[in-house]
Amino acid sequence: MSDKNKNSITFLGTGTSTGVPMIGCKCSLCSSTDPKDKRLRSSAFIEYEGFKILIDCGPDFRQQALIHNITDLDAILLTHQHKDHTGGLDDVRALNYFKKEPTPIYCEKRVLESLKKEYSYVFEPNPYPGIPKFDIHLIEETPFSLKKEVIEEGKTITKRIEIIPIRVYHYKMPILAFRFGSLCYLTDCSEIPQDQMEKLKGLDIFTINCINRTHHISHFTLSQALEVIKEVGAKRSYLTHLSHQMADDENQIDGRYYALSKEVGKGVYVSYDGLKVTF
Ligand SMILES: [Zn+2]
Ligand SMILES: [Zn+2]
Ligand SMILES: [Zn+2]
Repeated sequence: MSDKNKNSITFLGTGTSTGVPMIGCKCSLCSSTDPKDKRLRSSAFIEYEGFKILIDCGPDFRQQALIHNITDLDAILLTHQHKDHTGGLDDVRALNYFKKEPTPIYCEKRVLESLKKEYSYVFEPNPYPGIPKFDIHLIEETPFSLKKEVIEEGKTITKRIEIIPIRVYHYKMPILAFRFGSLCYLTDCSEIPQDQMEKLKGLDIFTINCINRTHHISHFTLSQALEVIKEVGAKRSYLTHLSHQMADDENQIDGRYYALSKEVGKGVYVSYDGLKVTF
């Protein structure tokens, strides 16, 4: 049973692969002094039924873990292998050190193949001392569960949660979104197959990527994201993975947090780094 309002999502990062501001850019959005316009690479921390779960572990993970005091994780779920979602995995060393255990990582086979290249030193037969330790769990698009032993009222019990993966496409790359009860975290998507829409029914919270206003080959634009949001019909929907191109200086369109928040309409929210929402 869902313990209402005990579950939460914290947006650790809400920016696209370059982050916002982008190095060297002088546009109106990159120049904004509002902290809500400073976006680290996209990642989320989910607290669900007593489990602590990280979705994606990008290059800003160390900074995000320090800001939010994330010292212990039951699982890291990877949506796909792009560097802005996996580039921080070396820093699980700190978690390994204190927990004295490898960190459980849940991903698809194609993501694992990429990790084996990017983090070849982790997978060597006789690894160098002090390298990060991954405990890999392969997943597919069928529901999977997380388990752990906890002590409640002096008794050891096994707690278990179910996570529902949703198959979506990032241009031609098949990737995963994840559903935990009434929350679905979806990012880096440009197409949701019609047969997967069924899995998005009855949501309280839906997060969706939105990169710019005009066109993108592998991400939803603002108008596309708003269309999907309407179709999904969640109570609250949050835009994430935003780029500095939400501002269009040439056409004098303000893309800063406050302006964009007014533009998106009822039930739709612009996420920002550090935003925590309960469900
Ligand atoms: Zn990305
Ligand atoms: Zn810019
Ligand atoms: Zn990507």
